[in-house]
Amino acid sequence: MIPLIDLKRQYTMLSHEIMHALDEVLQSGQYILGPKVLEFEKECSEYLNVKHCIGVGNGTDALVIALESLGIGNGDEVITTPFTFFATAEAIVRVGAKPVFVDIDPLSYNINAEEIEKKITSKTKAIIPVHIFGQVCDMGRIVEIAKNYNLYIIEDACQAFGAEYEGKKAGTIGDVGCFSFFPTKNLSGFGDGGLIVTNNDEVAERARMLRQHGSKKKYYNEIIGFNSRLDEIQAAMLLVKLKYIDHWNKKRTEIAQKYNQGLKLEGITLPAKANDYERGHIYHLYVLQHEKRDLIISYLSQKGISTGIYYPVPLHLTKALQFLGYKEGDFKVSEEVSKKAFAIPMFPELTDQEIEYIISSINELGGKL
Ligand SMILES: *Cc1c(COP(=O)(O)O)cnc(C)c1O
Repeated sequence: MIPLIDLKRQYTMLSHEIMHALDEVLQSGQYILGPKVLEFEKECSEYLNVKHCIGVGNGTDALVIALESLGIGNGDEVITTPFTFFATAEAIVRVGAKPVFVDIDPLSYNINAEEIEKKITSKTKAIIPVHIFGQVCDMGRIVEIAKNYNLYIIEDACQAFGAEYEGKKAGTIGDVGCFSFFPTKNLSGFGDGGLIVTNNDEVAERARMLRQHGSKKKYYNEIIGFNSRLDEIQAAMLLVKLKYIDHWNKKRTEIAQKYNQGLKLEGITLPAKANDYERGHIYHLYVLQHEKRDLIISYLSQKGISTGIYYPVPLHLTKALQFLGYKEGDFKVSEEVSKKAFAIPMFPELTDQEIEYIISSINELGGKL
């Protein structure tokens, strides 16, 4: 079976380095907010070209803490996409604010920037663009809107570590950027982990306090915070992986190019690149669309090829968010894509043989559907 993502292959390749990093931390006796977290934050600052990086427990907490650091809470509205992982909207609700959805662009799967202005009210405080599947949103337009209406931008860059837009790294274009190091993300740990990035000194200071019980100095708690820190062990292992991220992202792009050139099945919609930037898309996932998705998925499963559906339910139709009062038909593009989209295997260690087998298996479906 070719998995959607094979985490063991990457580990096998790096096992010596990873075990060494792990041993170093275990020997050090410092397991929470020690030198490895500091070093990882510094390396990320350099790589992303951003002033502050703050390691936190996971990507969801990164979003929650980012919102709180900007003072967003009760009574505020935050504009985002319904076509994302649940955590984006969950974080908004968690701080007491209200998610206001804007439909997506059918080709990039990202928030349709042209629709944002219509949803801005006197309560709107921020926009959370999500760089879905690794492709950077139309940040030029979004920054312009945010400036005009005096809104914050929090980039949910959980799927886009290392992606670029006009020479800037995803996550560093808005006011705050949030990353996740969940094992399936393109830069991933061996457990949970997250990162908040910003060029704003005050926001960084608040985020640093919030991640550990609202204190700058232990036992001198100034505000109500969280216990959400990046583990020393995860930071040490992420430091090993950070060195390879450009190489891996390039590999993903090359695999995507092979898929783009090879897939010929009638009626299939390939993932469109909405911008021309070389690394505007790092293909965290390679997502296709087809009217007969479910037939294709079961056929591929028989052929030993795994697929995934991202996302089967747009957020406005989830049970948890029913209280927002949205109904079927409110975001037609997201709803349609959720019925037609499916992801095929995508990870840097996929072999050429596997890629060719996946392409020919999909193409031979022509006439059979
Ligand atoms: C993974 C992900 C998150 C949440 O990250 P966790 O580390 O799992 O908490 C948030 N937003 C998006 C778009 C994600 O893909």
